Amino acid sequence: MVSNRLPYTLRRAGDAWKVEKSAGGLATAMGPILRKTEGVWVGWSGDQSGVTDARRAGLLARWAERERYVAVDLPPETARGFYEGFSNQTLWPLFHNFPYLFRFDPADWDAYREANRLFCEAVLEQLRPGDMVWVHDYQLMLLPRLLREAAPEVRVGFFLHIPFPPSASFRILPRREELLRGLLGADLIAFHTHRYLQHFRDSVLRLLGTPSHMDKVEAGGRTVRLEALPIGIAPEEFTGLLDDDEKTGRMLTEMRERFRCCKVLLAVDRLDYTKGIPERLRAFRQLLTVSPESRGKVVLIQVAVPSRERIPMYGELRREVDGLVGKINGEFSTPGWTPIVYLRRNLPRAELAALYALADVAWISPLRDGLNLVAKEYVACQRDGAGVLLLSEFAGAAAEMGEAIMVNPYDEGRTAESVARALALPLSERRERMAALHRRVTHNNVFAWGERFIGTLREAASARTRHAAALPAELPAADAARAFREAESRLLLLDYDGTLVGYAKRPQDAKPPAELIRLLARLAQTPATTAAIVSGRSRGDIEGWFGDVRGLWLAAEHGAVIRPPGSREWEYSYTGYSPDWKRDVYPYLEHYADRTPGSFVEEKEFSLVWHYRMSDPEFGEWLANELAHDLEGMLADTPLRAVRGQKSVEVRPMWADKGEVMNRLTRECPAPAFLLAAGDDKTDEDLFARLPATAWTIHVGENQSRARFRLSGPGQVCLLLEELVAAGRVEVSRKTA
Ligand code: UDP
Repeated sequence: MVSNRLPYTLRRAGDAWKVEKSAGGLATAMGPILRKTEGVWVGWSGDQSGVTDARRAGLLARWAERERYVAVDLPPETARGFYEGFSNQTLWPLFHNFPYLFRFDPADWDAYREANRLFCEAVLEQLRPGDMVWVHDYQLMLLPRLLREAAPEVRVGFFLHIPFPPSASFRILPRREELLRGLLGADLIAFHTHRYLQHFRDSVLRLLGTPSHMDKVEAGGRTVRLEALPIGIAPEEFTGLLDDDEKTGRMLTEMRERFRCCKVLLAVDRLDYTKGIPERLRAFRQLLTVSPESRGKVVLIQVAVPSRERIPMYGELRREVDGLVGKINGEFSTPGWTPIVYLRRNLPRAELAALYALADVAWISPLRDGLNLVAKEYVACQRDGAGVLLLSEFAGAAAEMGEAIMVNPYDEGRTAESVARALALPLSERRERMAALHRRVTHNNVFAWGERFIGTLREAASARTRHAAALPAELPAADAARAFREAESRLLLLDYDGTLVGYAKRPQDAKPPAELIRLLARLAQTPATTAAIVSGRSRGDIEGWFGDVRGLWLAAEHGAVIRPPGSREWEYSYTGYSPDWKRDVYPYLEHYADRTPGSFVEEKEFSLVWHYRMSDPEFGEWLANELAHDLEGMLADTPLRAVRGQKSVEVRPMWADKGEVMNRLTRECPAPAFLLAAGDDKTDEDLFARLPATAWTIHVGENQSRARFRLSGPGQVCLLLEELVAAGRVEVSRKTA
């Protein structure tokens, strides 16, 4: 386990050291898991004093020994830039949709990187072969990749406890690509909700150009699993106190007595601008203003836990909240009644549990919240089922707590109305809603969450290992030549660009050299051999270059049209095609070409291609990501698809894929004893997918592929073809002899 903080925090108090315990739900959940797996918990001690003495060292050694809590030491300046700086003044506001509060200081970024590096070192010191590492939250987004680089086989999972923002916000972030790549070092990345997961996928596509599936993304030659997995609570931590703790019971009885004549609204938040505290107080004021009958009959208990107090805007918020509470209480209080009971401190859990059990309505209205545990804690304590949960639609918890009364906290007037409605809800309806919530909260508890995360991580990592073993192996060229020689019939399907010749800046410059044409002619004329060029190029290009090569089959536009040897006629592999769609798509691509110097649109019979090889690489890549993303939405319900090629984005009908060529050629050469296909990009994968497992499928390049074998580039492919031609000749001369 790696998280920013440990369940213990070390503080310098005068000349002494103080250890504070902060046993939240996470610690409760992880306890049994870590004990079972003999795991350790790595985290920052929280100490920013810069003092190092023997007592401190002794304390930390004891944590490690007794609790298996391993403290990472951060130099004070690094800790400040990392924690107060980049984590809490850059990432926190941006991820919570407060772009105007976000600030970026390059020195903070350096501190963030340095801190992640120090965490990595601390983890590596603990790491044993076969270990699983679970990294938590936004402070450690670079860590998965650092671990992956240092220990490629390590199993790493990452959980984000805060929202992942829409890509329009995420893109604001300087160094955004590095953060995404940092996360993609993991085997599993999990979020609280599907919405956050979707936002992450959007950013990965737009910023890295990597398309993904609902549950996975291919990155750096690995598959990274994606999951939506909302955290739960440990309900007994609260209900246990209500059942067995005398003090909790006493507090509850006393408060029931004190608020006998009032309905109790309860709000529990850290003092953070994401929690919507001023908005709530203003909404409460409205309630008291528009329904005078509620005065003296309702009370709002606002717990506000001071937080991040070294950051200036937290101080401002505290002053604002203090002011609002004073103003409202001053305005409405009577000698016997105070509308807001304001507790600005951290309450012990016993007191919280009593408040949860007491409250008629939990008023949980963050402007944005990753999940919100308080909502679940309240539900856990409402065992009589009479309470009402009022929940912001901007809390992650809203995705799984549909029986709550939802509010938009920015709309203070309607929030006030919803509170009035919650207070007036009939008992039967309250019970019905609460029973459903209660079942879910107790069932999807933090233990189930922890186990699901670990189970999924285990699965994802073992899939990676299987996959790595399945990466194409170097082609054993001598074996291929032998198989070729011994085969009675042979079929070879060769892609052109990137397979037989390298890429040029302008497509028309990637012409076949004369010796390649001669080589292909010799191959095509080898007895019992059918050879085909299967290219995405237009038939004009392919015919112009290879039209006179005797015996060679030609397939253009990814197999949409095909020309048998000796014929001047191209055959269509699909009838009933209409090019009308181009009218709509062309202007769209043209718009991109206009915006991007050095790029252009190529029109082929069956497709439109936006090429950007000659553009500024970064700008071209960026626009290509944007284009692919937009097209994906635009073409979703059409029979067309947009495909990222090598420095190009191509739109074409779904059926125009290289796999189609097989239909035609199998008629010509059914069940060939030797079957070879070579290609370098995604379009060739369609063809590989159609071939039997025994075929000699060859990926040209270093990417992942479903091919069985790989060769590094066109040079190697030509050498292989030379060998095959030679092997074919040996066979002919042997037969003649
Ligand atoms: N909490 C606490 N003492 C308090 C108020 C709250 O220990 O006086 C705890 C509360 O039980 C909950 C956590 O603080 O577990 C707040 O979690 P939440 O997800 O609601 O918000 P976060 O603080 O993580 O943004």
